[in-house]
Amino acid sequence: MRIAIIADAHSNLEALETVLRHAEGEDALGQVWCLGDIVGYGPDPAACMARLRRFDLRCVPGNHDHAAIGLLPTDDFNRDAAAAAHWTAGQLSPEERHYLENLPHVVQEGDFTLVHGTLRWPIWEYLYSPDIALAHLQRQQTPFGLVGHTHVPMLVVEDEKAKEGCQIYYPEDGTMVKLGDRRLIINPGGVGQPRDGDRRASYAVYDSDARTISLHRLEYDIAATQKKMEAAGLPRWLIYRLSIGQ
Ligand code: ZN
Repeated sequence: MRIAIIADAHSNLEALETVLRHAEGEDALGQVWCLGDIVGYGPDPAACMARLRRFDLRCVPGNHDHAAIGLLPTDDFNRDAAAAAHWTAGQLSPEERHYLENLPHVVQEGDFTLVHGTLRWPIWEYLYSPDIALAHLQRQQTPFGLVGHTHVPMLVVEDEKAKEGCQIYYPEDGTMVKLGDRRLIINPGGVGQPRDGDRRASYAVYDSDARTISLHRLEYDIAATQKKMEAAGLPRWLIYRLSIGQ
């Protein structure tokens, strides 16, 4: 079975459509695993939710999903993110709010654990350093973990012999990770707002027969998304950052 692994779609329908079409290829996807932040920042929150829910979806919430439904105060958000969260709140139906509200913070699916941030603080903590990765791995009850939130593709390999207890890699387009005995954490990067200086949408595909995870970067129609954001009156920096992948 082939499963698309996506994170941080952030209401960017053009980017989401592009990765889902790429993932589907010639045969249908078995499932889609979503690591949170379906909404926030972008112009199409409801359409992104509807698109994802057409699949057999496993999904955890992110901080922006919670902010949009009032489960998380926006005090800690910067001004642009807070403005986008308030705009997003006005776009969601009661049914959509209910859906986001009831997502479990952590999902276990076979050998995988899905969470937005880390297993220490599922909604908020950014997994970007060896010490945070180790705190996460201590709590990870499955061989493999999947996280989002940083919008940066990352592979963490547990390694007791390494000085820091793990190795961190930044996989590029086309990287193929073979699943074996080593415990791993993988971040597929951000679909709708990449932040590693590469503006292309980022996501991964898990092939459960081959036991591989492949990482992909895809060009999408950024100008179309930006035009909709302008029309919606969303903050200028949020529009611009899509062009530079930050
Ligand atoms: Zn995010």
